[in-house]
Amino acid sequence: MAELVAELPPGHPLHGHEFIPTIRCDGCDAVVFSVETGPPWFVLVHLTWSRTAERVPWPMFRPLPVPFTAVLAGHDHQIREDDDLRGRP
Ligand SMILES: [Zn+2]
Repeated sequence: MAELVAELPPGHPLHGHEFIPTIRCDGCDAVVFSVETGPPWFVLVHLTWSRTAERVPWPMFRPLPVPFTAVLAGHDHQIREDDDLRGRP
């Protein structure tokens, strides 16, 4: 949670939101957060663990549909082009 907020630069689509970490991947830096703004939604974020603000579009994220078990089942620890900024689902 604190790490994500620290990494989000102004102008990032997730900047300014509050988050609750939900699942952390054991195989990479991906963490699923619930976004605590309005109706709940979820994002998979590739944290950089830099502890400082990144440059947009980092940290990369992917909005997750609910239920997101199918998405996570296909998760292969790679950051792909389609993990780009697609905004709110
Ligand atoms: Zn992973």
